[in-house]
Amino acid sequence: MVKENLTKVLEDIRKSEKEFNRAEKSVRLLAVSKFHPASDVLEAIKAGQHCFGENRVQEAYDKFFPILKEHPDVELHIIGSLQTNKVKKACEIASVIESVDRMNLLLEIEKQCAKLNKKIQVYFEIHTGEDSKSGFKSIDELVEVLDFIKNGNAPHIEPKGFMTMAPFTDDKELIRSSFMKLKKLKNDMQEKYPCFSFSELSMGMSSDYRIAIQEGSTQVRIGNSIFGERNYSK
Ligand SMILES: *Cc1c(COP(=O)(O)O)cnc(C)c1O
Repeated sequence: MVKENLTKVLEDIRKSEKEFNRAEKSVRLLAVSKFHPASDVLEAIKAGQHCFGENRVQEAYDKFFPILKEHPDVELHIIGSLQTNKVKKACEIASVIESVDRMNLLLEIEKQCAKLNKKIQVYFEIHTGEDSKSGFKSIDELVEVLDFIKNGNAPHIEPKGFMTMAPFTDDKELIRSSFMKLKKLKNDMQEKYPCFSFSELSMGMSSDYRIAIQEGSTQVRIGNSIFGERNYSK
């Protein structure tokens, strides 16, 4: 089923790009495999999928450590809120950490990547919807982090963009306004920090990715529509 679902989702992404006047292939698909076994990931890889997202570090590590050995070209993105004591493992397996939401997390990522002699890409997670808990608490704190990197204090970190989760609601306009906020923030920060190249807007999930594509998403994070419903009781 994974292969068929992937094909369907990719076709729909390409269709949405056309419909909303986005360049062809300007939206990347991140396949979110949390709660799904390595066998599903391998099936997706076989079907040509290259980028995966996981939100819990231990699960991601156990699942992807062997997979990355076999498939070194596969990219893993950490997309869940990250405790500092999990950063070491996250840095070992991830190409991108999308959930950077505070200074002390950034400091720990720099520290661990320095030890690993590895450069890592980060996206900054922004709180754009009323009921979401994750993301930077204030733009001031984001600016503090960006200044810190700009001043050369985090040479192992490459800021690449921004990530958000829209509120869980049926109200499409509320979802849209959340995506619009992220896009505006990215544009504002790009203007303020020409030294960075913020090319990524990670927004849109199974339920709302078409709206996200319309509002400028460059990466949608899709789990359910590819791997099926998650069983949280496992
Ligand atoms: C689980 C998750 C997704 C994927 O959600 P689906 O509804 O399964 O598409 C996307 N982003 C984040 C941050 C997630 O935790």
